[in-house]
Amino acid sequence: MADGKVNEKGITPQSENFSRWYIDAIRKADLMDYTPVRGCIVFKPDGFELWERIQSVMDGRFKETGHRNAYFPMLIPESFFQKEKEHVEGFNPELPWVTEAGSEKLEEKLALRPTSETMVGRMYSQWIQSYRDLPVLINQWANVFRWEKRTLPFLRTSEFLWQEGHTAHATEEEAREETMQMLQIYKEVVEQELAIPVWMGQKTPSERFAGAVDTYSIEAMMKDGKAVQAGTSHYLGENFARGFDIQFLDRDNQQKYVHTTSWGTSTRLIGSMIMVHGDDRGLVNPPRMAPTQLVMIPVGPGKLREKVMEKFDPLFDQLKEAGIRVRADLRDESPGWKFNEWELRGVPLRLEIGPRDVDNNQVILARRDTGEKVTVELDRVVEQVEELLVKIQEEMFQRALDFREKNSYLEIETIGDLNAHVAQMEKESKAVGWVLAGWCGEESCESKVKEETKLTSRNIPFEAPVVKKRCIACGSESKFTTWFARAY
Ligand code: AMP
Repeated sequence: MADGKVNEKGITPQSENFSRWYIDAIRKADLMDYTPVRGCIVFKPDGFELWERIQSVMDGRFKETGHRNAYFPMLIPESFFQKEKEHVEGFNPELPWVTEAGSEKLEEKLALRPTSETMVGRMYSQWIQSYRDLPVLINQWANVFRWEKRTLPFLRTSEFLWQEGHTAHATEEEAREETMQMLQIYKEVVEQELAIPVWMGQKTPSERFAGAVDTYSIEAMMKDGKAVQAGTSHYLGENFARGFDIQFLDRDNQQKYVHTTSWGTSTRLIGSMIMVHGDDRGLVNPPRMAPTQLVMIPVGPGKLREKVMEKFDPLFDQLKEAGIRVRADLRDESPGWKFNEWELRGVPLRLEIGPRDVDNNQVILARRDTGEKVTVELDRVVEQVEELLVKIQEEMFQRALDFREKNSYLEIETIGDLNAHVAQMEKESKAVGWVLAGWCGEESCESKVKEETKLTSRNIPFEAPVVKKRCIACGSESKFTTWFARAY
C-alpha cells in the first residue's frame, strides 16, 4: 500500500504505519483533539469516559488498601525544588513557570507541578510529629505538567491526568512493603481490567525517578513491539524526609526521619489499551473497561420497526437491570453506518434484531474482537451476553500474552547478535520486539546498547523467564537479567 493509504474506515492499516494507525484510530473514535497549546490535548467525552473507568477501578483498589484522596495545590514555589538535589536536576528541564500575576512580578516564581513530592513533603513535615501520626496514606487525582519534547496523544503529553500516591511510614520495611503493594495493584488492574499483560520489575539507576532510592515499574508491549512504562512505584527512602524535615518522635523516644513512597499511573493507560488491543477497524475495548459493553441496533425496514421495538425495549431493560453497560442506537441512520461507528469506538458486543429475528424469537450477537456472530434465543440473551463478555475479556488478555511471547527474544547473548537481530527485523519491516539480556550493572554497557540499537532498558523483571549469565555488552558476568526494548 502506498504511503498515506487508508482503508475503507479511513484508517491507515497497522502494518502500513503503526503510529499513523494510532492517530487515525483515536481521531475516528473521537477520543481527543489537539489544541493550540503545544503537547496539550482535549480529552473529549469518549476519551474521558475511558479515563473515568480506569479511575474508578484504581480508586476502588486504593481505598480497599486504606488510602484516602486529598488535593494539593498545582503551583509549587521554586525553592521547594531546591530541597532535593536529584529531584530538581531531573525535573528542571521540564518545568513550566508562573512568574507574574496580573501586572505584578511574583517574588518567587511558581512551577506548574510535574509531580507533588515537594509540596506533599512540605505539608507532611507539618502534619507528622509522632509515630501515632503514621502511616500517612494519601492519593491525589490531578493534572500535572511536564514540558515534553516529543509528544503523542495520551502516551506522552505536556499536561496529563494521573493519580499520585504519597505515603509516609515509620520504617523502611513498611515503606518498601507499600511500594510493592501498589506495584502489585497496578499489575492486577492493568492485567485483569485492561487485559494488558505486564512485566513487574525494577528500573535501572539511569531510568530511576529523580529523587528515588528505588523505582519499580510495570511494562507493557504494544502491538508494534514497542514498550510502554504503564505505571511506577517508588521507594523514596529518607530523601524527601531529609529535604523537607519530616521527623517524628518514635516509640523509643528518638527523633527519626520518615520513609516515604510515591506511585503513579496516568492517562497513558488509555493509549496503551488502544495500542495493545486495537485493530484496522478501530478500537477494541476490553469488556471490563468498555464504557459501553453492548450496543443494540434494530435492523430491517422502517415500516416494521414497531414490531421490532416490542421486543427491543423490554430486552434493553432486562440487560440494563442485569448491570450490563448497554446502549440502544435508535438514530435515523442505516444499520451499516451504525455498525461502522460502534466498531470504530471499540464496543465489545453488538446486538442486532430485525423483524425476521422477532418471528424466530432470536437476536444476533456480533463480537468486536473476532467479528464472530452468533444467533441467540430471546430469553437467553442476558445470560449469553454475560458469558460472552467474560469470554472476550479472557481471550483478549490471552491474545495479548501470546503476542508478547511471540515478540520476546530470550536467546540473544551478545551485542553483535542484537545488532544482527535489529537489522534483520528492520529489513523485513517487522517488530524488533523485546530482548531479554544479561547486564553487568555498568551504566556504560546500558548506554552502549542504547547507542547502537536504540533499545533501552525497560526493567529488571522480578520473575525473568530465563536467567542470563553474561552481560550483553561487555561479556562479563551478568548481575541482572533485564528487558531491553524501544519505548514510547
Ligand atoms: P513518574 O512520576 O515519572 O514515575 O510517572 C508516573 C507515571 O506517569 C509513569 O509511569 C507513566 O505511566 C506516566 N507518565 C509519565 N510521563 C507522562 C507523560 N508525559 N504523559 C502521560 N503519562 C506520563
